[in-house]
Amino acid sequence: MTLTPRPLPIRALALCATLLILGGAAGILAGALGPWAIFRVFHNIEISLPGFVFLWGGLSLAVATLVFLGAYRSPLLCLLGALLVFRWTAEAERKVPERVKFQLAGAQLEAASSVNRLLDQFHIPDVQIADLNTPNPDLLGAGLGWTVKGAQVLLLGGLAGLPGDPVAVWLFTHAVRGRCRACGARWLLARRPRFCPACGTPAQLRGVRLCPHCHARARRGDRHCAACGTALPSALKNA
Ligand SMILES: [Zn+2]
Ligand SMILES: [Zn+2]
Repeated sequence: MTLTPRPLPIRALALCATLLILGGAAGILAGALGPWAIFRVFHNIEISLPGFVFLWGGLSLAVATLVFLGAYRSPLLCLLGALLVFRWTAEAERKVPERVKFQLAGAQLEAASSVNRLLDQFHIPDVQIADLNTPNPDLLGAGLGWTVKGAQVLLLGGLAGLPGDPVAVWLFTHAVRGRCRACGARWLLARRPRFCPACGTPAQLRGVRLCPHCHARARRGDRHCAACGTALPSALKNA
C-alpha cells in the first residue's frame, strides 16, 4: 500500500461504499432477527420463528456482525459476504418450510397421538396441531426478504468500494500481469511500463495504442500524439 493520498473520486466512492455496506449489514441484521417462518397451530395461534434459529439465518447474522466489527473496511470481504448470504437465503427459502413441517409432524405424532387414541375411543375427531398442507410460500416470514434486500445493498457497497479496497489493490499490484507480445515476458500491470523490461520492445497491451515516437498512450480516435504531436497511424501494429 502506498501512503500517497487517494484521489477525491476514490475517497467519495469509498465513503459511499461504506454507507451502503453498513446499511446493507443493518438490513441483513434486521432480516435475521425478523421472522423467517410464520405458521398457525391449533387453527388460531400464530407462531413466528426469527431467522437466527435456522442455520442459514444464524450464518447471515454472523456476516452482518462481522461487517460491523470491522469487515466494512474491506469491500472485497463484504462482497463475498453478500454472495454467501444470497446462497444461504436461497437455500432457506426452500428448506425453512420443510423444516417447519417436519417439526410440526413430529410434534403431532409425539404429543397428539396418545390424546387422539383416547379421543378415537369416544369417536371424537382427532386433535390436529397444525395444517401440514399449507403451501410452502405461506410459511415464509418477511424477515427472509429483508435479509435478501440487505445482501443486495451490501453487494452494491462491496462493488462500489472495490477500487479503494486494500486487498483488491494489493491483488492488482501483485498479481495482475501484462505480457510482451514480442518476447512473452510478463510484468505487473500496475507498473504501467512503456517498454518491455526484458527485450525493450514498446509494451503494448491489447487495445492500447502507443505513440511510435515518444511511446505515450494514445486514446481511441486520436490522430496525433497528445504528448509530442507525432501523427499516429490509424491502427498501430506491433513496433
Ligand atoms: Zn519483450
Ligand atoms: Zn508522442
